[in-house]
Amino acid sequence: AAETGVDWHPELMTGRPACDGPQLLRNFVGGEFIAGPRSFAKVSPVTGATLFEVTEAGESTVDAAVAAARAALRGPWGRMHERDRAAVLRRVADELERRFADLVVAEVADTGKPISQARTLDVPRGAANFRAFAEIAASMPTESFTTATAGGGRALNYALRKPVGVVAVIVPWNLPLLLLTWKVAPALACGNAVVVKPSEETPSSATLLAEVMAAAGVPEGVFNLVHGFGPDSAGEILTRHPGVDAITFTGESATGTAIMRAAADGVKAVSFELGGKNAGLVFADADLDAAVTGSVRSSFTNGGQVCLCTERIYVQQPVFAEFTERLAARAAELAYGWPADEATMNMPLISAAHRAKVLGHYDLARAEGATVLTGGGVPSFGDARDGGAYVQPTVLTGLATTARTNREEIFGPVCHVAPFDDEDEAYALANESEYGLAATVWTRDVGRAHRAGLRLDTGIVWVNTWFLRDLRTPFGGMKTSGIGREGGRHSLDFYSELTNVCLELS
Ligand code: NAD
Repeated sequence: AAETGVDWHPELMTGRPACDGPQLLRNFVGGEFIAGPRSFAKVSPVTGATLFEVTEAGESTVDAAVAAARAALRGPWGRMHERDRAAVLRRVADELERRFADLVVAEVADTGKPISQARTLDVPRGAANFRAFAEIAASMPTESFTTATAGGGRALNYALRKPVGVVAVIVPWNLPLLLLTWKVAPALACGNAVVVKPSEETPSSATLLAEVMAAAGVPEGVFNLVHGFGPDSAGEILTRHPGVDAITFTGESATGTAIMRAAADGVKAVSFELGGKNAGLVFADADLDAAVTGSVRSSFTNGGQVCLCTERIYVQQPVFAEFTERLAARAAELAYGWPADEATMNMPLISAAHRAKVLGHYDLARAEGATVLTGGGVPSFGDARDGGAYVQPTVLTGLATTARTNREEIFGPVCHVAPFDDEDEAYALANESEYGLAATVWTRDVGRAHRAGLRLDTGIVWVNTWFLRDLRTPFGGMKTSGIGREGGRHSLDFYSELTNVCLELS
């Protein structure tokens, strides 16, 4: 049977391997879990202990996965009506809900994120993604035109949607199941077969998703999973593979550049959701309680490790002092705790390497002249968590807009607060970035709320809220934050090809 063979024991959430030692996570190719000669360790960000050994896919495994996907497209899956594919997607959602508890363990074990977040955001969104795209696929829009012909007759034009083929899905570690299913669901809804490459830091939920796919009756070869790293490993092998037709990627902008180069050979279609250095704008007329609470969420959720997190907050002068004081106080109060404790708010960063990068930014901020209002260091627990990758939530002020701290994505629990005078200045400051993913605006002025949408160079503008997502809306970034949009029918446009049929009616 296609089973992970892993004991998804709740103990894993405390950063200790279940059973006697690290369990093995395997690749999933053509409907079967397969081990291989090479593996790497997945360590807990909570304690630093090794939780899993993960089979690393090399050339031959990636070849087999792409071949299995191609074979599945030639079989019944490739001819299945979208109504029937939608039914398969709904069964996947049902099965994800049935495995809810195991998925929570997998997600919390890999990332150290608070269990309350995994239960309310990450894992439910997995099933929600499949349900949403089941609906969207069942009502795929098509268009038709009649065209006048030279002889005075007419021709009928219509467009047929077809699968793109074999789609490579490469995702990061911050919201592993949420981001993976956000891409796999529409890819399958459109009739493609996928080879997915989760982050080396978060192999677990993707492995469980393979088991879910098999249990839900997704045909063999439609969903394949290869584990490994990026450069010189499964990620790069996949993006260079001539059997891959399209690549959908979420991750760093620099990685997007590397993948785009690889995709140029073979002219593979790409969809990129990349980094951000998102601004929050707090106007003096805002509901300040809501702005403070919203900004705490937007800067510190998931340890600041969400592409949509706010790392730059600009506050209108009259409320700058009060807002800043309240934000720093709230950041300092965010509860530490073990990931499985219900009250826990803070979480470790994903790895020791990422912690070193974030702490380097804290040092850089000081060197650039920042005042540290709270945080700026490493918490001490006096228990096994001292072996983990924790940093303190940090609020900075006093930096120039041009400071590196204000330009580079840090991807940790940190924000910089600076004042502005008027609306024009606010938009200019927010737009002064090579990124253009999201912006958040806090105001009670309805005209300004709409103007912000017009003036901010970002793919998303939230007004008086943050991270509220309707899966039918376009999602993606401007500038170096991405290429293309996914969500609703925009996903269908990427995951399907169109054939225009032109028929002389006379
Ligand atoms: P990353 O770019 O380092 O890695 C992402 C994935 O790409 C991983 O699976 C990795 O193994 C793989 N990879 C790395 N190099 C590769 C290569 N040369 N070829 C093929 N695959 C390669 O990103 P990360 O550190 O895992 O994630 C954090 C980044 O993701 C941040 O920049 C964040 O803003 C971004 N992100 C963006 C969104 C969005 O929707 N815009 C969402 C979440 C995260």
